[in-house]
Amino acid sequence: LTTRTISIFGATGSVGTSTLDLIRLDRGKYRVVALTAHSNAAELAKLAKEFEAEIAVVADPEQYEALKQLLAGSQTEAAAGPDQLISAAALDPDWTMAAIVGCAGLPPTLAALKCGKTVALANKEALVSAGALMMAQAREAGATLLPVDSEHNAIFQCLQGGRIDQVRKITLTASGGPFRSWSKEQMASVTPEQAVAHPNWDMGAKISVDSATMMNKGLELIEAHHLFPVGLKNIDILVHPQSVIHSMVEYHDRSTLAQLGSPDMRIPIASALAWPERMKTDCLPLDLSKIGKLDFEAPDDDRFPAIKLARGAIEAGGAVPAILNATNEIAVAAFLKGNIQFLEITEIVSRMVDSYSPPDPDDLADIFAIDTETRKRAKAMIEDVKV
Ligand code: NDP
Ligand code: MG
Repeated sequence: LTTRTISIFGATGSVGTSTLDLIRLDRGKYRVVALTAHSNAAELAKLAKEFEAEIAVVADPEQYEALKQLLAGSQTEAAAGPDQLISAAALDPDWTMAAIVGCAGLPPTLAALKCGKTVALANKEALVSAGALMMAQAREAGATLLPVDSEHNAIFQCLQGGRIDQVRKITLTASGGPFRSWSKEQMASVTPEQAVAHPNWDMGAKISVDSATMMNKGLELIEAHHLFPVGLKNIDILVHPQSVIHSMVEYHDRSTLAQLGSPDMRIPIASALAWPERMKTDCLPLDLSKIGKLDFEAPDDDRFPAIKLARGAIEAGGAVPAILNATNEIAVAAFLKGNIQFLEITEIVSRMVDSYSPPDPDDLADIFAIDTETRKRAKAMIEDVKV
């Protein structure tokens, strides 16, 4: 039995801890190289000790001393700062989980792809901001990019045994979030607590708000556009409140394949962790007789303009997807702090995309410059509308 070396970026988060839960099921099979967090040194140190990681990195340099002390006497080396995050990603494990939230995950994800091994990608914001660059990096290095986002993982599974040029259409399903049937008037006054309480999935705060605005589906549309080149007009979005069908692929012969499962992120993560094998998990089996029926409806662009914004961003190309993503990150953070209202999140994204048009980015430095400038402008815009 050969052990697999593994690193997890964003180990303390929802996807990160779910990945570690799966590793616990077969501890002897894996050797953990790097675990990382943003600032939660206590939790990171605990996990690093349990999994006997070689190195633990906090992105926030101010947490270095705390992490070092917590790890004193253990076999894990402590490190801190964005550069150390990149160095840790270059340690060349067999398998890397990219589960940092936001564009902050882009540099370590690119560094991991450069090693030419397998990268399981949860960090959709990185792909949204720098999709062309990331896909080129993966190709150049011969890396395997395994989608972890449940929809993209479903499509990836439905494509086994088929080829992308045989695909007629891809359908991304969407739960519709907690406000699927709410009017705009009702949505105007929702609180952060209401927005993070997703009906089906238990996730980090940022993606939960994204699900509530349906920007998550917009980001996933851009993600799908890069991962599965079938052309934007051949990617559909279908609201499916039960989150049982995770996505579908229709082939030219009109045969449609779907992937189903309980709404538990450990299922797509397990598929990426064991790929191309299958592992046993203790996730809930799907009981369709209990669920009884599955519902479907078209998304409502008026109440949820995010999907349209994302489609527009792909069509516009250049800097627009990175601008959309960075503005959304700032707007979601402002909403969670109580500084703006729920409906203002997509309004601000829309205003930014219309008002800021830098030249097309050529490289990573250009993308970072656009990301930084967008964040500055978004913060200024938010100051104007602050509640
Ligand atoms: P969480 O907020 O739960 O976790 C985020 C992780 O990233 C934590 O480990 C956090 O560290 C770390 N982190 C946050 N900011 C930074 C930063 N600036 N630099 C370095 N590390 C940072 O997020 P999720 O696990 O929910 O989501 C992770 C990614 O996966 C997102 O891109 C999300 O869209 C995607 N995804 C998540 C799903 C889910 O079910 N949760 C489903 C599909 C996709 P710390 O704990 O110290 O803050
Ligand atoms: Mg998803």
